[in-house]
Amino acid sequence: MKIFRQVSTLQAELKRARRPGRTVGFVPTMGALHDGHAELIRRARASCDTVVVSIFVNPLQFGPKEDLAKYPRDLAADARICRRAGANIVFAPEPKAFLKMKSLVRVPAPPLKKYLCGPFRPGHFDGVTAIVAHFFRIIRPDLAFFGLKDYQQFRVIEEMTRLKFGGVPRIVPVPTVRERGGLAMSSRNRYLSPRRRKAATRFYRALTAVRRRIRSGRVTAATARTLLLKELERGGLFKVQYAEVSDARSLKPLSGRLDPRRDGGIVIAAAVHLDGTRLIDNVLV
Ligand code: AMP
Repeated sequence: MKIFRQVSTLQAELKRARRPGRTVGFVPTMGALHDGHAELIRRARASCDTVVVSIFVNPLQFGPKEDLAKYPRDLAADARICRRAGANIVFAPEPKAFLKMKSLVRVPAPPLKKYLCGPFRPGHFDGVTAIVAHFFRIIRPDLAFFGLKDYQQFRVIEEMTRLKFGGVPRIVPVPTVRERGGLAMSSRNRYLSPRRRKAATRFYRALTAVRRRIRSGRVTAATARTLLLKELERGGLFKVQYAEVSDARSLKPLSGRLDPRRDGGIVIAAAVHLDGTRLIDNVLV
């Protein structure tokens, strides 16, 4: 496995790797890697000839009051995880030079940014699309792997790729990897004490309780939303930012009776604060 910090040396290496019939897979990350990220790399390894992992804490996607400065950074530990999961190339660009490149342009996020996390993180998805498009232009992958843990991000990137890049790379969704008990793995979980981490499993239990009700086929969207909120607020552990039941493609909040076999699917999604740490999670029906 090779590590690159500069675009020019990365591209020279990719030129050698990119031969007819050989595919390049790309896994974008912000580092502080865990087994969720490793799963993305393993999936890429299984279907691509060359696997590129980027490690870049993207300042464009953080709001002024968010955790950019304290976001965990440890390139050596991350490189070990990448190697073990089967990456060939780690690209960890120097932020200053990378952000100054002329090819970094604004790519407005598609309209589905306005739902779920959107209103609470103004500018966030525009920051994500700008940097992901920048990586796509530099790496020119055939496939790119995104976790369903960040379901809205996956859909935003899928739409952006269709609209701006004619559907290349193909965006491959990877199911959420969870800790024992169900808490979705996240780099931000390390802000939580072990006790809090254990208590946070209630988040996943709330989502799956609502999924069971929807699967029973006898519930309206309003009832499902109320139930989700009640489950999340029980015991006063979480401060709920939003709790939503939405169309899994458009991300529009649903209304009326829910059909568990609905075309396009249903996503049950929420964001909560636990001791000042923001957690998001979702399940699909
Ligand atoms: P991040 O480093 O948080 O920007 O995440 C990089 C990629 O890893 C994104 O596509 C995430 O959705 C994905 N990811 C993060 N946590 C998980 C998880 N627990 N399971 C699956 N994918 C994940």
